[in-house]
Amino acid sequence: MTVLTDLTLKAALDGLASKSFSAEELTRAHVAAVEAARPLNAFILETPDKAVDMAKASDARRARGEAGRLDGAPLGIKDLFCTEGVRTTACSKILGDFKPTYESTVTANLWRDGAVMLGKLNLDEFAMGSSNETSAFGPVVNPWKIDRELTPGGSSGGSAAAVAAGLCLGATATDTGGSIRQPASFTGTVGIKPTYGRCSRWGIVAFASSLDQAGPIARTVEDAAILMTSMAGHDVKDSTSLDVEVPDFSQFVGKSVKGLRIGIPKQYRVDGMPAEIEKLWEQGIAWLKEAGCEIVEVSLPHTKYALPAYYIIAPAEASSNLARYDGMRYGLRVEGANLTETYENSRAAGFGEEVKRRILIGTYVLSAGYYDAYYLKALKVRRRIADDFDQAFGKVDALLTPTAPSAAFGLGENADDPLAMYLNDIFTVTVNLAGLPGMSLPGGLDAQGLPLGLQLIGRPLDEGTLFSLGGAIEKAADFQAKPAKWW
Ligand code: GLN
Repeated sequence: MTVLTDLTLKAALDGLASKSFSAEELTRAHVAAVEAARPLNAFILETPDKAVDMAKASDARRARGEAGRLDGAPLGIKDLFCTEGVRTTACSKILGDFKPTYESTVTANLWRDGAVMLGKLNLDEFAMGSSNETSAFGPVVNPWKIDRELTPGGSSGGSAAAVAAGLCLGATATDTGGSIRQPASFTGTVGIKPTYGRCSRWGIVAFASSLDQAGPIARTVEDAAILMTSMAGHDVKDSTSLDVEVPDFSQFVGKSVKGLRIGIPKQYRVDGMPAEIEKLWEQGIAWLKEAGCEIVEVSLPHTKYALPAYYIIAPAEASSNLARYDGMRYGLRVEGANLTETYENSRAAGFGEEVKRRILIGTYVLSAGYYDAYYLKALKVRRRIADDFDQAFGKVDALLTPTAPSAAFGLGENADDPLAMYLNDIFTVTVNLAGLPGMSLPGGLDAQGLPLGLQLIGRPLDEGTLFSLGGAIEKAADFQAKPAKWW
């Protein structure tokens, strides 16, 4: 018997099309899976009634022959995406029980194509973190468990955990410095951060506007391609959204990669990189060679400045974006004796520790005396990093690196050490700084039996090549492992 929650998105869409099961049956199976998985804390808001209503409407559309690309597919939505009439918190106390009066463009695109919403997914507060531990709703537990509970990565920890655990067929996520790719790597899932501007940021709670980008997390490369085809597109409501055609990305999966040139950036062989990550990388290189790619060593000389630059630029933009939470318009308000005190009380009570740290760093680097020394300098470094990639892409079609410097770590293990936590982003932030597309996909398991991810980085707007290369690696890796269902 088919277990509906074990299907890939593609198989589920095929099953719906051939009437093997209805959208309502598919949705009810996922609603039950979500309920049974509460110990994972992946969903912070379940919307089962809405899901069943949407599924029934989908079945009716299909009966009329009007089914869209994703019709009847149950998805999870990161709680950074505004959903009309449905509580949206960014996992911060400061948003209280904010119910947006509008829908984000990305989620609107998914509903336009017939997808079904199962609920809202946990994340690090305002997407700031690499372990989902800064969430006001508590951490997500990685479905992959060894002798102890592990983090699913962050900030899209809820999205990655829900997809890995079979609670939804795919999920929306966002990536400012690695938040789609690192959680995908920690959970054995596929995540792609598109080129900056591919997906509209309208209606997504802003973290660092020049870096934020939405993308999908899914169980296969093809599923990610199907989701991204719906999510992407030009939007007049976001001035940085790109007015370019959106191809059907699934057509790139399975395409030959013969003759493609793959760059291996030597600066990503960082000191202290675990031997297993090194081995995974070598394995990825071997797979692409076997598939007919040419491997070329490339140099990205400014890589070592990427983390410091990111941790100046991202907090600077965050401090500005978060200025709007003042207790006046929406969300939490803690009264004081006067206006200033009300601001202070509301922000003191509403923001968590990591968010406050970012606001302090951000306001500091933007302040009159330090702007040139820090913020402006970081912008110059950003330019250099983008130039490095430009040069490399003169010689190669894509780059291959590990996604993260380790497998999933234990809950609480890095929580008191911000610098150790920031190091997680060492291979991912460069991609956001340069605005490039980046994909993470599972390459294998480490000695403890935990998934490890490989990252592919592409030219601007060349997600198609990433889907082709991802398809080739996926085929070679034949990653069938699933977390044991302990919850
Ligand atoms: N871990 C990074 C940070 O904390 C990236 C987060 C993200 O991509 N949203 O800023």
